Amino acid sequence: MGAFTIETPSPEATERVGRALAMELQPGDCVLLHGDLGAGKTCFVRGLAAGLGCDAAAVHSPTFTVMSRYPGSLANLVHVDAYRVNSTDELRDAGVEPGAVDTVFAIEWPEKVPEAWPERPVDVRITPVDASARSIEIRVAQGTLAERVGATLCAKPCPSCEAAVGPFDANWPFCSPRCRAADLGRWFSGQYQITRPIEIRDLEEGTE
Ligand code: ADP
Ligand code: MG
Repeated sequence: MGAFTIETPSPEATERVGRALAMELQPGDCVLLHGDLGAGKTCFVRGLAAGLGCDAAAVHSPTFTVMSRYPGSLANLVHVDAYRVNSTDELRDAGVEPGAVDTVFAIEWPEKVPEAWPERPVDVRITPVDASARSIEIRVAQGTLAERVGATLCAKPCPSCEAAVGPFDANWPFCSPRCRAADLGRWFSGQYQITRPIEIRDLEEGTE
C-alpha cells in the first residue's frame, strides 16, 4: 500500500491535488472520498474533474440526485454522494455501475454501502486542520499506480532555488513568483540557448 499525506492551505490547493491525482488515473478507477461534512470532498472532486477534462465548474455535491455524470476529454467522471443510499440495489437504481470502463468514479460517503465498490480503490481521506487547511491522505494499492501517484505528489526541487515544492503549490513547479520571474529572466537573457546543432535527444528530453 502506498500512502501519501499532503496538507493544503486553501480550497484551490485541494483542487490542485485532485487534478494531479486525476492525471494518473485510468478509466475504471474508483476514488473513495472519506471525511466529514465540509471536509472538502466535493472540492477535491472538482479537481479530479479538471484533470479528466470535464467541466469542473459544473461539479456540485449530488446529495439529492445520488449521481452526476460529467463527460470528459480523457475519461468521463461519475460523482456519487452515497450519504442517503442504503444498499447496492439503490445505487444500481440510481444508474451507478462501478467499474464501467470509460469512467472514473468518485464516491463521497462510500462507507454507507461498503460492499458496492471494486477491489483496490484509491482511498482519499480529508481531515480539517483549521478553517482553511486540510490534511489529505491518499492510499493506493501497491503497483504502478502507487508509484506514479507517489512520483506526482511528492515534492520536487524548484528549478530556480531547489527548495521543495509540492504539486499543490500555486507557483508549481516554482516555489514562489520570484523564482518564476528569475527563470523567465534567464530565458530572456539567452541563458537557455543551445549553442550547438540541435539533436533528436534534445527534443526527447523535454517530453519525459
Ligand atoms: P464535503 O463535500 O466534504 O462536504 P465541500 O467540498 O462541499 O465538502 O466543502 C468544503 C468547504 O470547506 C468549502 O466551503 C471550502 O471553501 C472550505 N475549505 C476551506 N479550506 C479548504 C481546503 N484547504 N480544502 C478544501 N476545502 C476547504
Ligand atoms: Mg460533498
